[in-house]
Amino acid sequence: MSPGAGKRGGIDLGGTKIQAGIVGPRGKVYGEARRQTPTEGGPADVAREMAAALRDAAEQAGVDPASLQGVGVGSPGDVDERTGEVSEARNLPGWEGTFPLAKALSEDLGMEVRVGNDVQVATEAEFRLGAGKPYRTIIGVFWGTGVGGGLVLDGRPWLGRGAAGEIGHIVVKRNGARCTCGRKGCMEAYAGRAAMENEARREHDGGEKTDLFKLMRKHGRDRLTSGVWERALEHGDKLTEKLMDRAVEALGTGVASACNVLDPEAVILGGGMGVRFGESYSEPLRKEMLKHLFADDRPPALHVAALGDLGGAIGASLLFDE
Ligand SMILES: [Zn+2]
Repeated sequence: MSPGAGKRGGIDLGGTKIQAGIVGPRGKVYGEARRQTPTEGGPADVAREMAAALRDAAEQAGVDPASLQGVGVGSPGDVDERTGEVSEARNLPGWEGTFPLAKALSEDLGMEVRVGNDVQVATEAEFRLGAGKPYRTIIGVFWGTGVGGGLVLDGRPWLGRGAAGEIGHIVVKRNGARCTCGRKGCMEAYAGRAAMENEARREHDGGEKTDLFKLMRKHGRDRLTSGVWERALEHGDKLTEKLMDRAVEALGTGVASACNVLDPEAVILGGGMGVRFGESYSEPLRKEMLKHLFADDRPPALHVAALGDLGGAIGASLLFDE
């Protein structure tokens, strides 16, 4: 038996990083690798970097990529699970149109590739293997570059007509801040890491003091990653505190609104920002949610994603779990 038997590849394509993993039965991770998501070029360049990350992970696992059962991808944007095409992934470079991601990766890696919605596969991974295991109905909230949501209702994934769970675009302020979707006042326009960065830049340019950009350069980054936000908080950076509070207020408002519709048993908080700040901000987040929860005598449980940063890649690999 080849060492790759029963193992699948999983790739989580994020706006900041590409996380790849080699995953066996019950979500066990045998090898992992990450690369920065290209900020320039186009979808073909992103796909090349994804294939490279998968090869890195396979090497770490000591597995021949060709022996894998297949590779699953969790992708942002509008994903057609049937064709493996991805459209309008606005947080990725040059991806306004439609790109055949499964086909490109399949040709590069020489195996079958399936593509699912990044947040939905990560939510299903938490439901099956992580913090959502005790529950039948959960909302996954993935707080990263943007804010995504995934739904499992009474044990079943809920995709709607393909666009369910877009929790980041719940309106938290009418005629509010401009969102990447082109509309105004979406939760993501306050809580998304990219929106927070834009606001930090605007205030910094307007003369507001902050260490955020100094820390970014010091750590060799070209954007305000969740790690940069964390360090700035440790420095007691006032603008950082203000923008984090603003983000958590928007998150609490939006998540509570979704809970008022679905009455889930639990909310699972994941994503780069969610995993990093989920514990330290859980009380402020609960407090903000309680202000807007209709059934405020029995709020849903709030958990940080148990599969952590690897949840997306593990979830993607489950696209091959028959
Ligand atoms: Zn929006």
